Amino acid sequence: MSDITARLAEVEARIRRAEAEYGRTPHSVRLLAVSKRQPIAALRAAYDAGQRDFGENYLQEAERKQAALPEANITWHLIGALQSNKTREAATRFHWIHTLDRSKIARRLAEQRPESLEPLNICLQVNISAEPQKAGCLPEAVHELADCVAQLPRLRLRGLMALPAPATDPVAQRRPFALLRELFDELRRSGFPLDTLSMGMSADLEAAIAEGANIVRVGTALFGPRPNHPPSQGTPQTQEEA
Ligand SMILES: *Cc1c(COP(=O)(O)O)cnc(C)c1O
Repeated sequence: MSDITARLAEVEARIRRAEAEYGRTPHSVRLLAVSKRQPIAALRAAYDAGQRDFGENYLQEAERKQAALPEANITWHLIGALQSNKTREAATRFHWIHTLDRSKIARRLAEQRPESLEPLNICLQVNISAEPQKAGCLPEAVHELADCVAQLPRLRLRGLMALPAPATDPVAQRRPFALLRELFDELRRSGFPLDTLSMGMSADLEAAIAEGANIVRVGTALFGPRPNHPPSQGTPQTQEEA
């Protein structure tokens, strides 16, 4: 697992180089380690190397990992699709939800977020290129959803998230990130105090940083290829990434 220490250093170096190249404030981009389907030992190795933000896609799998890594200084992010019958677990076990795309889910999370915990940090997932069948609210509906979330107790609206279709050419990679950034700026101009743009993964984090990302969600570059199945039984109950 010591590869993970080396890969973590490499990913951190990519982030710092991109910050410098695109005129971003040093250390303004936070690395979210996407650990879905990775064994607990991999998360442990990343934790021991200093990583503190972890992103999981499946609630059941996350529960096992959280039990194995109970350290209070870990920040857990849900980055998989969230169904309305699973909101209670999500509201109880995570610090951040990156995939909120419906007001119904927002209302349930607000009701179910325990009083004993800090407000739940929320990013709205946007289907930025309006791809058919893709999760996320459409760009034209974001304003209304932001209004809804901002008025709910127990939730703290932080920003926007997108998972654009993969592209290899850096110009094509930047286009959807630029659109998300424009939407983010528009919402801020209308008075929403947003501070988070969650965009960019292993293959396109530089393009995302160029366009203003401040959380990049990185799996493969950090942990290597994902095993096909989660480390033990448990059928994923949330959709896989695109
Ligand atoms: C899996 C996943 C990632 C990480 O993807 P990599 O290409 O492995 O870095 C990022 N975001 C979401 C929402 C994911 O599901």
